[in-house]
Amino acid sequence: MESQHVAEVFTQLYGSEPEGVWAAPGRVNLIGEHTDYNDGFVMPFALPHVTVAAVSRREDGVLRLHSQDVPGGPVELRVEDLAPGSDRTWTAYPAGVVWALREAGHALAGADVHLASTVPSGAGLSSSAALEVVVALALNDLFELGLPGWQLARLCQRAENVYVGAPTGIMDQTASACCESGHALFLDTRDLSQRQIPFDLADRGMRLLVVDTQVKHAHSDGEYGKRRAGCERGAALLGVDALRDVPYAELDAALERLGDDEEARRLVRHVVTEDERVERVVSLLESGDPRAIGPVLTEGHASLRDDFRISCPELDLIVETALAAGALGARMTGGGFGGSAIVLAEEADVPALTKAIEAAFAAADLTPPRVFEAVPSPGARRLR
Ligand code: ADP
Ligand code: MG
Repeated sequence: MESQHVAEVFTQLYGSEPEGVWAAPGRVNLIGEHTDYNDGFVMPFALPHVTVAAVSRREDGVLRLHSQDVPGGPVELRVEDLAPGSDRTWTAYPAGVVWALREAGHALAGADVHLASTVPSGAGLSSSAALEVVVALALNDLFELGLPGWQLARLCQRAENVYVGAPTGIMDQTASACCESGHALFLDTRDLSQRQIPFDLADRGMRLLVVDTQVKHAHSDGEYGKRRAGCERGAALLGVDALRDVPYAELDAALERLGDDEEARRLVRHVVTEDERVERVVSLLESGDPRAIGPVLTEGHASLRDDFRISCPELDLIVETALAAGALGARMTGGGFGGSAIVLAEEADVPALTKAIEAAFAAADLTPPRVFEAVPSPGARRLR
């Protein structure tokens, strides 16, 4: 994405040059799925795909929002009128950020914003967090709020949960705000402590592919709520605040306590083993053995498919085909029921692997998936 071009369009729209241009990336979660609302561990890294914002301050209480990716001219709002639930369109995301910042006591008198993005929307790669974080970072800089990345992420999550009305954990916004190039981010979603873990695959002759099924099965939103409620029920049955508090070493005893409550047993087993997989991936990467994470990713897929039950035929087909074609590991990523899978592979195997996946989709009469390479990229930043 050319920051020069985004600045030029801003100038055409609003009649003067922007004060600055910022970028925030989409993300992929390497491991740690459906752990974030259980106070557990996640491990996302940032994509090269970014949402770019050209922004100038205003002092008159007006917020103007425009996106290259949505038809129509700028939308004009008054910052005083911003209220949760009042907006069901895309502008709720950036307006929600302004609302959350103001509600936290930061004086923001208004802004002109123009956005353009290369993050695929609705593919489970978090275009919504990229949009929120880029706006938050721009306002943080322009109004000299001095907030650190993790705090901007919190405010963006609040914007999405309360203003937009979408229940999401803290992972996406923290990833977009805090990731570093060549690293994955080990994040404890309970206390928000984080550690940058070396994850430079190209250096080691490996690649990580994202395979976007381009499908989203219709029932997926309701299923997210059901899994979340099911995990809360499991925690209550076990007498803990969150499933994060069940140590891996005590999993068998916990499952025994759940008796013949099959649903609770499955959900608890996924969350507790998934937290353990994140810790295993961290220690393998820190000890310089990135190839060895492949089987852990594949185990994670089996757990999401069999215990958490949020995979779908397209995602299973990608994983099975990739493994049969020599991948080191593969798993679905994101909310499930569509969206994307990730495949870890030797560089030399990538062309054959990609062909095998495309052929398997064609043979099953499915829409061809979009395959691209995910290079661990920098988090949100100012471009000019
Ligand atoms: P994901 O975050 O997985 O891409 P979401 O449903 O959480 O999917 O967020 C997608 C929504 O975010 C879009 O429907 C749109 O409202 C908003 N959005 C994301 N990127 C842009 C953009 N560049 N311009 C306008 N709206 C955007
Ligand atoms: Mg999203």
